[in-house]
Amino acid sequence: MIEKKYTPLAIEAKWQQKWDNDQTFAVSHEDIRPKYYVLEMFPYPSGRIHMGHVRNYSIGDVVARLKTMMGYNVIHPMGWDAFGMPAENAAIKNRTHPAKWTYENISYMRSELKKLGYSYDWSRELATCHPGYYKWEQLFFIKFMENGLVYRKKAPVNWCSQCSTVLANEQVEAGICWRCDTVVEKKELSQWFLRITNYAEELLECLNSLEQGWPERVIAMQKNWIGKSTGMEIDFAIEDMEQKIRVFTTRQDTLFGATFMSLAPEHPLVELLIADSPDKDRITDFIQQVTRMDNISRTSESLEKEGMFTGKYCINPVTQDKMPIYIANFVLVEYGTGAVMAVPAHDQRDLEFARKYNLPVRVVVQNPEDPVEEVSEQAYADPGVMVNSGQFNGMDSVEAKAAIADFLEKQDLGKRTVNFRLRDWNISRQRFWGAPIPIIYCEQCGPVPVPEKDLPVILPEDTEMSEDGKSPLPRLEEFINTTCPKCQGPGKRETDTMDTFVESSWYFARYADARNEDLPFDRNAVDYWLPVDQYIGGIEHAILHLLYSRFYVKALRDLGYLSIDEPFSNLLTQGMVLKDGAKMSKSKGNVVDPDDMIQKYGADTVRLFCLFASPPEKDLEWSDSAIEGAYRFLNRLWRLVMELLPILTPTGPCASFEQTELTEVQKELRAKEHDTIRRVSKDMIDKFQFNTAIAGAMELVNTINQLKDKLTDTQQGQQLLSSAIASVLTILNPITPHICEELWQEIKYQQPLTRASWPTYDPQALIRDEVLVVVQVNGKLRSKLNVAADIDKQELTRLALSDEKIQKHIEGKEIVKTIVVPGKLVNIAVKG
Ligand SMILES: [Zn+2]
Ligand SMILES: [Zn+2]
Repeated sequence: MIEKKYTPLAIEAKWQQKWDNDQTFAVSHEDIRPKYYVLEMFPYPSGRIHMGHVRNYSIGDVVARLKTMMGYNVIHPMGWDAFGMPAENAAIKNRTHPAKWTYENISYMRSELKKLGYSYDWSRELATCHPGYYKWEQLFFIKFMENGLVYRKKAPVNWCSQCSTVLANEQVEAGICWRCDTVVEKKELSQWFLRITNYAEELLECLNSLEQGWPERVIAMQKNWIGKSTGMEIDFAIEDMEQKIRVFTTRQDTLFGATFMSLAPEHPLVELLIADSPDKDRITDFIQQVTRMDNISRTSESLEKEGMFTGKYCINPVTQDKMPIYIANFVLVEYGTGAVMAVPAHDQRDLEFARKYNLPVRVVVQNPEDPVEEVSEQAYADPGVMVNSGQFNGMDSVEAKAAIADFLEKQDLGKRTVNFRLRDWNISRQRFWGAPIPIIYCEQCGPVPVPEKDLPVILPEDTEMSEDGKSPLPRLEEFINTTCPKCQGPGKRETDTMDTFVESSWYFARYADARNEDLPFDRNAVDYWLPVDQYIGGIEHAILHLLYSRFYVKALRDLGYLSIDEPFSNLLTQGMVLKDGAKMSKSKGNVVDPDDMIQKYGADTVRLFCLFASPPEKDLEWSDSAIEGAYRFLNRLWRLVMELLPILTPTGPCASFEQTELTEVQKELRAKEHDTIRRVSKDMIDKFQFNTAIAGAMELVNTINQLKDKLTDTQQGQQLLSSAIASVLTILNPITPHICEELWQEIKYQQPLTRASWPTYDPQALIRDEVLVVVQVNGKLRSKLNVAADIDKQELTRLALSDEKIQKHIEGKEIVKTIVVPGKLVNIAVKG
């Protein structure tokens, strides 16, 4: 018989076609099985799938296929995060429309994903740039607005001149644009904000419930970003003015040491304070100079602390001392109240500032180890003993915090309060390729939301893009001009679009009911499918996307759309794909294109390589020899099954046998098979350690190869081989589904492997036989031992030496030599 050759491309195309035709992976929420939702972060349709995608989606696919085999009703959807700047830039460059560019990319990338054989329910595919999707996003915006979660505000915003748009705080990294690396400027604009800060406390609190399922690092990053601090708001009266300056401080214990006040240049009282200053022009110049700087530079330690005296004073509420009011370059208006009570003895920035402008420095907390009266170069920021603080002198400063808080509250001078670093989310973008914000401006009525029945506000798809990168929307008369829904007078549409992170904040809910044209999603469907049981994606989304999604779920829950508190029960952040030690990137020229690899080896080999080379959360180093190795293994598996095919029968994995009727070799194979299932189940199901699971399957293949010739001649042996082969194919099915399905079919199983169950091992099969070993001392038989047949030499020696009868003969004598013949004999030579 001429054996069939392994032809991956033909086999893979055949099964992909069949899965497509049969809708093998389509699921419904009307199903009695328990549900399992596995989701990979959806891609931006940039043009081609890269190796990072392949790794991310291969991990997700193993989880999906594995959970299906374990009896779950698994939803595994895929879609496209399709709005955003690259489409706009590419459209300008190629003189086309972003929609055309995007849909062409989607179509190509979908074909690439299909070639990888992922088990997606394609009937749920969505693209966020489709009006059928963003219609609901616009509806949510209106609902948020009705419920006080949306507001418009003129505010200093992060402006990227390269992208001609504003950025959320989360999109500015170390002062530069997250997308294009341009230094971000400040600009005053009227923008729409989502009140994410309403949920600051809950967003923080719920992180505790995610500790089991989320990486520690991501939780820490979110906690830090939300940045809760507990302290006090204290009011300082201004001399000769009615207004007060309110500060937020976590160090009210140092209030007696506050000797001057520092305001952010943007602080609302600044204008009033300098109105009659003779230095007004110089101060104004200074303010302009500082406000042009980005926040990172302004808060960096190395910044030269500079300020201008306003000419005004405020009063320290406990010492009644006059404190000069300064405008300082290092104070930010976004944090706290934009005003800082300066305590130079106990804050390094304040100390540097005080030294520069000769301002008083008063020690109020002393280090008990080194109780100095004055500080020199270094401010003392740690707790200590209270001094120069009136009735609080001598107290421990930590206790004094509470005592001073009580005192100030009683005197009505301040109140305890919590402050968050988290700011509201600015979602206005001055870009074209995004979801229009559903607002109409009317001279009579102000900003009016578009009525629900008029949604979606459609983004024009026949527009010419302008060369300068600016959005064409503000120039599109037919888009802008409309009627006011309230007074029917003339109205003008909002021309800003939404931040693309709005789309990705709820897409996982839309998958539950992606084709619904009447509702964002049916309540039964989302209640059944959500939350996502396993989410998989890159660590780069630790703050932005994951925080916004958590906020959206809480807000939609409170509006009655969802029942859950958190979107993602478990999160896996997979490592990067590296080549020559660096992340693959076009600029470094170290990109490996998945298409080429599939063409050369087939999708199963590419998948096997990605999953075998390292555990999911670690980085993966690309290696040509390792992908060759993966290909060789699949060929070896193919040849093994083809060779045995005439004797293989569809027994299924872990077939049952009467253990006592098996020969030694048969028991050996059976034990190996069941032990492999035991170990692999643990690695795959409990730990997602697919690499060690694959190693286990490879070992089992080796054992089959070693023992097969001793097993083919009896029916029982043939059945044992059939069972072991079935186990190999079952284990590898989630990883390399095409070849496994093909071989499964060759063995003439009635049901496809995708419908097979995950095997359970028989603990009895793991117990090996005992053998009788004789133990001699100086050549004379002294004892007999019953031991496991596969016991190693060391263990056998230990048992022999500790045997009671043997002990009698070797006691007080020197052991010269021990000879061990495994399975037969131990001889101990003694002297004396
Ligand atoms: Zn930019
Ligand atoms: Zn109106």
